[in-house]
Amino acid sequence: MILIFLGPPGAGKGTQAKRIAATYKIPQLSTGDMLRAAVAAGTPVGKQAKKVIDAGQLVSDEIVADIVADRIDETDCEKGFLLDGFPRTLAQAEMLDKILQDRDRSLTTVLLLKVDEDALLARLRNRIEQTMQAGGEVRSDDNVETFTKRLRVYKEQTAPLIPFYEEKGVLRVVDGMGSIDAVSAEIDGILGQSAKA
Ligand code: AMP
Repeated sequence: MILIFLGPPGAGKGTQAKRIAATYKIPQLSTGDMLRAAVAAGTPVGKQAKKVIDAGQLVSDEIVADIVADRIDETDCEKGFLLDGFPRTLAQAEMLDKILQDRDRSLTTVLLLKVDEDALLARLRNRIEQTMQAGGEVRSDDNVETFTKRLRVYKEQTAPLIPFYEEKGVLRVVDGMGSIDAVSAEIDGILGQSAKA
């Protein structure tokens, strides 16, 4: 099972991706997590990426596609994997097509989490508050200004992936406005169907 999670920043992709990874026993490949790990480790890629991430912009297509291609060649991805935060541009989607084709693999389903924008900002404020209350570290790009930029980048560069995957017949839309349990149930319904298909 090869899944892609699409949706604006703050839509709850990370939460659902972690749950699906655990339920379906496939690794969650989050390019954001991988880039943050590179930043923390101070690698050359990390050093380059930090400024871009903090500005709410996108890291280059080639860098993220290389990271993903290397990662899916690891043995834990043999049965499938879930991409969270990749692809984010049409160029990345085309690179992913090629990466999968070269490995004789194909996408199972693209899940689009649909939410309204006002809810996104409220969720962001909530997430910052909860993280701080729990004594955790707030992500350096989790603030209203950077978030607004990330949302704009999503609309301009990532939203075109919706018709791209719709045309391929793999896109499924999930109502992301419900409770975590309701969203989970809807996704499980979809994945149950596509697992049988
Ligand atoms: P995320 O954790 O998915 O919200 O990603 C955090 C940040 O990492 C993004 O705002 C981008 O700067 C960068 N990033 C993550 N995934 C990608 C990607 N597929 N393409 C380009 N930049 C990315």
